[in-house]
Amino acid sequence: MSTPIHNVIIGSGSAGFGAARTLRKSDDKCRITMITMDSLPFYHRYDLPQVFRGKQDWRDLLDVPPAYYDEMDIKLRRCSRVVDVEGAAQKITLAHQEAVGYDRLLVCAGGRGYIPENLTSYAGLMHGFGSFEAAMRVYRDLPAGGTAIMIGGDMVGIDLALTLLDTGYKVTLITNGQTFWPHEISQEEQARLLEVLAAKGVTIFKDSRPVGVSRDNAQHAASCVTLEDGTEVFGDVVMSFCGLASSVEFMLGADVDIERGLLVNPELRTSNETIWAAGDVCQIWHDQEKAYRFYHGWKNVRVMGELASRNMQGAHEIFDVDIEDTIGIGPDGQLRSTFWTH
Ligand SMILES: Cc1cc2nc3c(=O)[nH]c(=O)nc-3n(C[C@H](O)[C@H](O)[C@H](O)COP(=O)(O)OP(=O)(O)OC[C@H]3O[C@@H](n4cnc5c(N)ncnc54)[C@H](O)[C@@H]3O)c2cc1C
Repeated sequence: MSTPIHNVIIGSGSAGFGAARTLRKSDDKCRITMITMDSLPFYHRYDLPQVFRGKQDWRDLLDVPPAYYDEMDIKLRRCSRVVDVEGAAQKITLAHQEAVGYDRLLVCAGGRGYIPENLTSYAGLMHGFGSFEAAMRVYRDLPAGGTAIMIGGDMVGIDLALTLLDTGYKVTLITNGQTFWPHEISQEEQARLLEVLAAKGVTIFKDSRPVGVSRDNAQHAASCVTLEDGTEVFGDVVMSFCGLASSVEFMLGADVDIERGLLVNPELRTSNETIWAAGDVCQIWHDQEKAYRFYHGWKNVRVMGELASRNMQGAHEIFDVDIEDTIGIGPDGQLRSTFWTH
């Protein structure tokens, strides 16, 4: 009897989960191992602001019950960090030193919130919002009616900001080039959209560069962001919403090409024959533009995961989606973004 092919997927987000499900649907014999740093099985990260609307039990967030993975014979290895991939040896090393071999590897490691370079030494004084645990920390550290300071204000942050305003909190926004990311908009458009936020009660510091973050200021609120002109902005939590940095560090020994993300052809294969990538971690070759492009957002990412998994099984499908990418103000005067359409 031949040994079943071992497909390993790094990451259990939208791309990884969609890939595992698709693989299993078309092949009930292959081995599927999903390795993730997450402690929870797959949930949609776009649901995380819901913790402020009472969804604080992690079970309410899950896309499928935990038993699904056993039923589908998908080995889900949670709380496991990949630290190295050896492309030539087809071997993955986990942080606890275990080695896992693969026949085909799909990397769906996503990205983490980017922190402006001059602020990275203050990362420990800021809150993240990329996981259930991080969202719950923000929920616990924001007192009722308290203030969240957001640096940047990408679409993930703006979504959270609107939820916070709706649930009785205050928001201070320090804008920069990533405000409304991943939408690419002009200064004029940005100004119009910021007016909508200001009318809803957001305090806005326009293009004032933050240079420091401090905590435990006895006279004021818990956190303080200092701006380049010396202005001090006080709040209870500080968060950076400045787009994403792809999680590629562990791929440096994998014998694949990397720019800011893992570079893949339109079939989502890397420069290594046995490694594919999908989701926020990858940049896809765009033949008309003669450049590698990111395609952020949940809808793109899910399509990529499913497509990559079919190509791992021998198909030659091309990622050729053209999902609408617009932001504007609706007839009701509210912000409307295609990024938010769940
Ligand atoms: C709060 C929030 C709100 C959002 N709202 C929207 C929205 O409204 N609309 C929208 O389109 N998008 C939204 N997004 C973005 C969307 O969730 C992402 O585009 C999508 O999750 C990306 O999926 P992915 O599978 O590529 O990566 P991710 O979902 O980021 O998953 C990455 C996976 O890789 C794992 N991983 C990373 N490194 C390692 C490693 N070294 N070892 C092991 N595992 C590793 C992680 O543990 C995780 O399981 C939101 C994101 C957040 C955080």
